[in-house]
Amino acid sequence: MAVPHRAPFSPGTMENAFLPLNAYVPLGDCDGPHEARPVVSEGGEVREGQLIARSSGKGSANVHSPIPGIVRRITRMRMPGGRERGIIVVSLEGSFSVLGKRPERYLWKSLNKTDIMHIVQEKGIVSVGQRMPLHDLLAAKSSPGGFPLVVNALEMDAWRRAEEEILRSRPLDVTDGCAIVARVAQSGPVILAVDPDFPQASIDSMLASFKETGIEAVAERFRRRFPQDMRHQLEEALAPVLKDGPRPLILEPSTLVALHDAVVSNKAHIEQYVYMGGGALKRQDILKARIGTPIGDLVEECGGFVGPPERIIVNGPFRGHSAGSLDVPVTKTTRAVLALTRHETMTAATRHCVRCGQCVRSCPEGLSPHLLYKLLAAGRTAQARAEGLGSCTLCGACAYSCWSRLPLVESFSGDRAEGNLG
Ligand code: SF4
Ligand code: SF4
Repeated sequence: MAVPHRAPFSPGTMENAFLPLNAYVPLGDCDGPHEARPVVSEGGEVREGQLIARSSGKGSANVHSPIPGIVRRITRMRMPGGRERGIIVVSLEGSFSVLGKRPERYLWKSLNKTDIMHIVQEKGIVSVGQRMPLHDLLAAKSSPGGFPLVVNALEMDAWRRAEEEILRSRPLDVTDGCAIVARVAQSGPVILAVDPDFPQASIDSMLASFKETGIEAVAERFRRRFPQDMRHQLEEALAPVLKDGPRPLILEPSTLVALHDAVVSNKAHIEQYVYMGGGALKRQDILKARIGTPIGDLVEECGGFVGPPERIIVNGPFRGHSAGSLDVPVTKTTRAVLALTRHETMTAATRHCVRCGQCVRSCPEGLSPHLLYKLLAAGRTAQARAEGLGSCTLCGACAYSCWSRLPLVESFSGDRAEGNLG
């Protein structure tokens, strides 16, 4: 793809997107097949923030209505990446219990660990980066504690900028989110992982507020390269800081802010910060959108298209997926919508694999991407699985490093989209 080293972005206010007339609320936002079970029926009224589907166990999170209204349908929809998901369609109607109200502020420090974990589970918080319920992540980490908490404000590609902007604009809420994690999971020092251009003044004020809360914190600037926000790449890059200590918990500013809003303001996970960009879009922006908002509504809010987009990608070119239509809804793991021009999607000519081994050296999972590619091209999926295809995280590092510009990730993600990996 023809990308600038980093798409220019003017920081501004992160505005609330208009409310959707119909919200298409997915029952599953996490990786894996698990979906929440609806607890409402078609035709029923729902309040803003009301529980509409309950977690079916590990790997699924509670789902709440992002708007007040009527449950029109409970159906299924094909999501970017090819997986079908259960959807509850809510039509806007009635009065608001969250919007326009002054946010509540609870004195969370008087809550014990069990109470906080209950809130995290009840409010359905999902880690946007790890695509898992935050409750599951915290529960897995709560013993023995002392592990570093990495606040990951790095981005996956040259366009996305939401995490960095959240860290810059809501630093105290991120700090509170870290303090809540420290309370429930006994995490140790905080490491702020930021871009080389992240403003030093913001870092200084965050480090000062961590000091006030008694949390040890450092900032680490990362050399800019893409993709760079994946767990393995981050751990590898932080190895000199982490030494032989426990593995860190990595959370993004948006997840920490959602945690803060749940515990401090009693708010369910019904909103998501979405970066809107790409050369085919009239105006780039970061919008705070209600879950279930069709991405077409967000495109309209950004002034529409300047010309026909060649491709619309949800969550970026490295690990994202093409959206089949503008009706695709915002989910708890939507971070970006890119409307790309023909120039931006231009793919260069490919050559045969020269067996240089560069993809093997760059794969954080220790796979042999050239071999997987060859096996899939020959239709030998079972053998590719035996060679570790199921461990591929679709990080894109192999394709990025391939001299022959082979479409390695497309080939691996195509297999996932067909459901071959379950
Ligand atoms: S996309 Fe998959 S095979 Fe390629 S580097 Fe990432 S994990 Fe390895
Ligand atoms: S980097 Fe590309 S050319 Fe080199 S071995 Fe891997 S697939 Fe083949």
